[in-house]
Amino acid sequence: MTALVWLRHDLRLRDNPALFKAAELGAGVVAVYIHCDAYVRLHDQSAAQRDFIRRHLHILRNELARLNITLLVSRVEKPAQIAPELLRLAQSVNASHCFFNAEYPVNELNRDMAANQLLREQGIAVKRCHDRCIVPPGMVRNGQGEPYKVFTAFKKKWLQTVMPLSLTPLALPQSQTLDSVIKACSPDAIDQLFSGHDLRDLSALWPAGEQEAYRRLDDFIANGLTQYLDQRDYPAIAGTSTLSPYFAVGSLSPRQALSAVLAYTYGDWSGNAGAACWISELIWREFYQHVVVDYPQVCKRKAMQAHTEAFPWQKDTALFEAWCKGMTGIPIVDAAMRQLNATGWMHNRLRMVVAMFLTKNCQIDWRWGEQYFMSQLIDGDFAANNGGWQWSASTGTDAAPYFRIFNPCSQSERFDPKGDFIRKWVPEVAHLSAKEIHNPPPLIKYPRPIVDLSESRKATIALFKNLPPVATT
Ligand code: FAD
Repeated sequence: MTALVWLRHDLRLRDNPALFKAAELGAGVVAVYIHCDAYVRLHDQSAAQRDFIRRHLHILRNELARLNITLLVSRVEKPAQIAPELLRLAQSVNASHCFFNAEYPVNELNRDMAANQLLREQGIAVKRCHDRCIVPPGMVRNGQGEPYKVFTAFKKKWLQTVMPLSLTPLALPQSQTLDSVIKACSPDAIDQLFSGHDLRDLSALWPAGEQEAYRRLDDFIANGLTQYLDQRDYPAIAGTSTLSPYFAVGSLSPRQALSAVLAYTYGDWSGNAGAACWISELIWREFYQHVVVDYPQVCKRKAMQAHTEAFPWQKDTALFEAWCKGMTGIPIVDAAMRQLNATGWMHNRLRMVVAMFLTKNCQIDWRWGEQYFMSQLIDGDFAANNGGWQWSASTGTDAAPYFRIFNPCSQSERFDPKGDFIRKWVPEVAHLSAKEIHNPPPLIKYPRPIVDLSESRKATIALFKNLPPVATT
């Protein structure tokens, strides 16, 4: 009898609760990864993230083999085929148990419930572990037992809740002593999972694997953590950890990140403003994961604040195309969009700037932007992306107030004062002075701004102000 481990967004060996617990049984472990064609479309998964997952699976196959754990891979077309395929795999390896780490968006919850039921009916014990958040959803509640809507209150309670929890990351899973009679998948079988889907190889920028994730984490803690508060908002400086792609596919766990900060600060980060700020960002990540569970309407393309569904978002494809291509005539917006298109990643400050510009100046539906981000980002994560878009569009929980609209040129002057970031990505304006570059004079080879920032701002505020207070959908 073997234990089956169903891998999803947890592509690592260390601190992987499902893998660790399965290996503890000592009865032999088989890990499986099931690729679903429809999920790729449903989640607008980027070609960059797909290739990142493919590269992770190759590494995992070899690393699991060193522990005598076999990796099998499989491909299905539709979500409804996942549970039967998992059962088929479990029965083919004579599994008595199946372990997996929980995922929280509605489609994933339904998928896991179906798998749980089917396997249990066939006498296979199913163990669902918590892994994706340091504090599992449902554990951060106010005095009335309700979920928090406001981040600062959530953060305060989260910090109180986290203290009694064990934060020591789990070690490598136990090596299996029994030689497995089940043959691991071939490298070719891993590549075949993705045949027919576009793949984008960004390995030079984003090497795969948990070793790379630790390398980045160690480097950031040693060289970036203390300066994080001062540097994190300047896109021309490498002042953030760039760990988001590794969190997204699960080659790094948030516990590993938090415990690295605790080790560096000897358990007390109160004297290190950079550490406190970085932990706050990890808590934002958790906040949005919890929102997905507590307010499942966000998984159905709905706004958190129902009354904002009445906002008359424009369907202007020309404006949207210009934004996607980085041809809006606003240099900081264009530089950011070109960074996204070229590298699969965008600096956090700029994600807020371009999202506000699209929703508040172009008045284009945040869902268009959300979808485009997912289709390009290597770190695409439903909860964080949806949360970021609904924050920027003032439709979300604890969102930016609708009347506080970033002016992208002022943001540019403030956070890219010398124009270094713009010069890197928008060569058409690179010759301009630091004063002119944020809001250039008419140029032959660069577009004029596609919208009037001041007029569009006023119009958006007026529209938000006049929204009926109750839900209209
Ligand atoms: P660091 O500054 O080093 O932060 C450490 C970690 O904290 C990040 O890796 C991330 O896991 C988490 N984090 C930081 N800021 C946020 C935040 N605002 N919300 C949630 N988690 C955060 N992040 C994603 O991982 N995937 C997405 O698809 C995504 N889409 C976004 C869309 C919009 C419109 C906005 C405004 C933000 C989005 N974010 C997303 C959040 C944030 O921009 C990225 O997590 C961050 O830029 C990643 O860079 P880093 O790893 O260097 O972050």
